[in-house]
Amino acid sequence: MKKTKVMATIGPSSKDEIILEEMILNGMNIARLNMKYSSIEFCADIVDKIRNIDKKLKTNTAILLDLKGPDIKVGKFTGGKAYLRDNDKIRIHMDPIIGDSTKFSVSYSNLINDVKTNTVFKLDNGLIEIKVLEKSENSLLCEVIKGGFVEDNKSLRVIDTTINMPFITSEDKSAIIFAGRENIDYIALSFVSSAEDILSVNDLLIEYGNDHASIISKIEKEKALEDLDEIIRVSDGIMISRKDLGVEIPIERIPSIQRSIINKCHLQSKVSIVATEMLSTLENEVKPSGSEISDIANAIVDGVDAIMLTGETTIGKYPVGTISMMNKIIKTSELDINYIELSTKAMRTENQDITGSIAYSVVGCATRLKCIAIVTPTMSGYTAKKISRFRPNCPIVALTPNIETARSLNLYYGIYPVLIEDTKSFDMILKLSKNSVIKKFNYQEGDKIIITGGYPFKEVKHTNFMKIEEL
Ligand code: PGA
Ligand code: MN
Repeated sequence: MKKTKVMATIGPSSKDEIILEEMILNGMNIARLNMKYSSIEFCADIVDKIRNIDKKLKTNTAILLDLKGPDIKVGKFTGGKAYLRDNDKIRIHMDPIIGDSTKFSVSYSNLINDVKTNTVFKLDNGLIEIKVLEKSENSLLCEVIKGGFVEDNKSLRVIDTTINMPFITSEDKSAIIFAGRENIDYIALSFVSSAEDILSVNDLLIEYGNDHASIISKIEKEKALEDLDEIIRVSDGIMISRKDLGVEIPIERIPSIQRSIINKCHLQSKVSIVATEMLSTLENEVKPSGSEISDIANAIVDGVDAIMLTGETTIGKYPVGTISMMNKIIKTSELDINYIELSTKAMRTENQDITGSIAYSVVGCATRLKCIAIVTPTMSGYTAKKISRFRPNCPIVALTPNIETARSLNLYYGIYPVLIEDTKSFDMILKLSKNSVIKKFNYQEGDKIIITGGYPFKEVKHTNFMKIEEL
């Protein structure tokens, strides 16, 4: 059983219930809804389908809603696009106009007040660069530094200058309300610049009475790197959004930033997700490239929690095939994880509390005794997450009567949530623990499992027992 989790974005190629079911059966742990391309109706339909499949298969698929975020867009062009030539002058208007190769407009009229002479804009995928020469009353005179085609409604990124646009747009607000209504497990924030941005979303969640959704901050702006430790501290997890990050910073810096974020998240006990172009060859072909496989393997060895698929499962030809290929790569790559190193590294930054100490011992014991699973009854998921942080080399089965806990835990390294009836009996938990492993795993008589949790259930807040059982 793989331990690194697979998140897949849902789109036209994967929206049918039969495909979604196959994706779950082949190892999709988290479904991602991308508000950049999807309507609320589309998302509601997918949530319904996934919940139906979960009921049928007794799975607990986590759902992540990825917000559009604050985004400045260029207006429309005559014929849908225009060619901007190197060194040409171009005027950016704050009022809507139809653009051409000498002028265009932007969706954010306050831009003129935020930028300075020499501020650089990047368009679309970052290949086009424009520099501000001069401000006039309602437009900016700019020079094209690197030219190219620009199309209607493409994003405009402001480099090196802080923009005073509010972080939460009205569209994002509607999406957050939708997430609350559907009990969605994770909300991903696009274009985060500082910890303040996350705190403002937290306030909104409190205002809306949403106490379930966890926050994943997407690192895709250079500015975010300046406040990285704080951003990680106030988030539940981080997504390394390599595509957009590569627009703002030299692309060759991304591997080292990725490695450092995975490490920081692990040390702060937060989940990390690596995103974009993991297996893009599979959008059209059946075999991935060697470099794609190495890229995934590196993230896994560094200790990432989850790998995300985008184009491969939204518009690609083989959404199910991609998931099963990903599973194969993950399983093989996990053989190279240095579990002891990851575990000791986590212990060095662990609070000296009972739950952490027991979790660390449980993981050590599981390794020495070659246990095939660690089973933990949990209400909030706290114990399971602690064990996950110490990176055992066997899966963690989290038994919980709480469906929201079950779904949320599915994003975490190694955790397999199983929904159980609420019980206070210790003997019952032992029985359920053994049964859940027997059902889920290939095992041989005499194989060992470790059961750990806090007893009496619901009465103690910390973990206080560890029991080794033979199957
Ligand atoms: P996106 O994020 O798909 O939401 O743009 C991923 C990335 O930027 O890499
Ligand atoms: Mn992005």
